[in-house]
Formats: sequence, structure tokens, C-alpha cells
Amino acid sequence: MSYVKALTIAGSDSGGGAGIQADLKTFQELDVYGTSAITALTAQNTLGVQGVYPASPEALKAQISSVMSDIGADAVKTGMLFDEERIKIVADFASKEDFPPLIVDPVMIATSGDQLLEEKAEKALIKKLFPHAALITPNIPEAEALTGKKAGTLQTRKEIMRDLISFGAEAVLLKGGHEEGTDWITDILYDGAAFHYYHVPKLDTPHTHGTGCTYSAAITAYMAKGKALHDAVYSSKAFIHLALSEARSAGEGAGPVYHAA
Ligand code: PLP
Repeated sequence: MSYVKALTIAGSDSGGGAGIQADLKTFQELDVYGTSAITALTAQNTLGVQGVYPASPEALKAQISSVMSDIGADAVKTGMLFDEERIKIVADFASKEDFPPLIVDPVMIATSGDQLLEEKAEKALIKKLFPHAALITPNIPEAEALTGKKAGTLQTRKEIMRDLISFGAEAVLLKGGHEEGTDWITDILYDGAAFHYYHVPKLDTPHTHGTGCTYSAAITAYMAKGKALHDAVYSSKAFIHLALSEARSAGEGAGPVYHAA
């Protein structure tokens, strides 16, 4: 018997709350064997990002090759990709015929305001990587940046999701957590055929660091285990809601979401 496996291609968060660290913890909690290819090191804590140190293109390629040529993966996710060159490297791997389902979390700017993807790389994300994605998971600011449209009403949200699907991903999950002035969060999944809605009460906590990474890692883990997309999102929504409800401080700033079995 072998493990169910998932690979995360993302940035390292020295503070342990987001990026590779959040992904691997989530995989472990969901009983999936996690592997990693690091795109960049960040010097980071609960107060913000103090430094970004990209891994060389050779180092990124070699990590993905090492993992995929031996261990393999039942699903793969991407997080912080940093720039166009690194996006192209991932897209080259993803274009191979037998590459597993790819979940793309289009990480751009941390909640702390720090830039995790060069602005000029947004086009490469859309053109090179989205066509290989089984799912993309933008939050509202990311979806607005990618489409140039404001996500005010439900109607405009649907329009934005149709635009995002037209770039070639099989499905899009628009995460509503950044919405202001509401007691409820609504995430919407669109697979090109139907819209599925996930409502949860909004939790009043400053400790949200790593929410996006943990959510998309949970979806990746559930998909690696063979759950259908809709079920994987449903289970992951419950997972991230619990992680947020138990989140606490770790340093002076925004603490990480809770990780423990
Ligand atoms: N650092 C890294 C390496 C990340 O990948 C991410 C999120 O995707 C963040 C930081 C941002 O985390 P948050 O916005 O949840 O604080």
C-alpha cells in the first residue's frame, strides 16, 4: 500500500503560518503525504515579510523533477510563484500529459501588504498557468486584479468568474473572505456549468495568517484522495472555518490559523 501524495510548489514562510509550512501541515492533518518545491524563501513573522529571497530557476526545476520522477503526486498546488520565470517553469511541468490535477492559488499580495508576485507576472499566470489548472482559488482582490473588474454585486462576481474560466482553468473558486460589512462569507465555485455557494458566518479574529494557503492545501489534499471538486471544496471550507475559529496569537501581529489534528 502506498501513500496518497500531494506536492506544493510555493514560498517558505519562516514564521510557519503560511506558504509551504501551512501546506505541509494541512496535508499531514488530512493524512496525505506532502512534498514541496520551494520557489522563494521569505523572512517573515506575524508582523509581515521582512525579506524575499527567490530560489534559482535551476533549484526550482530540480526540486519538482526530483519529486515527480520518483514519488509522484496525486494532486499538486501552487502558491507564491514570485515571477514570470518561475511561473513558466511550473507551466512546463504542468503541460506534461500525465501531470496530476493542479490547484492554482494565485497568490499576489500578503494580507500584511507585502508583494509576493511581481505585478508584471500576472499576465503569465493567466496565459501560461491557468490553462493547466483544475481549479484556481482567487480571493476578491486577486480576482479583481486579474480581470480588471470590481466584484460589487453577485452579478459582477459571476461575470468575473466567467472571465476567469475563459482563461482556460476548469473551475474557479472565488473566496469571499475579504468582503467588508457583512456577517456572512460566501465563497462561490463555478465549473463552467453551475455556480455552487458556500456560506459560513464570518469569524471576528485578527488571526487569519495563512488562511488562503491552508484552504487551497486542504482542497488539494481532498482531491488527491479522490474527492470530486464540489465535495473537496465543501470539506475544505469546514476545515478552514475550524482552523480560523481556533486561531490564536503567536507573536505581536496577526497570528496563524490553527493547525492540529
Ligand atoms: N507568505 C507566503 C510564502 C505565502 O505563500 C502567503 C500566502 O499565500 C503569505 C505569506 C500570505 O499569507 P496571509 O495573506 O494569509 O497572511
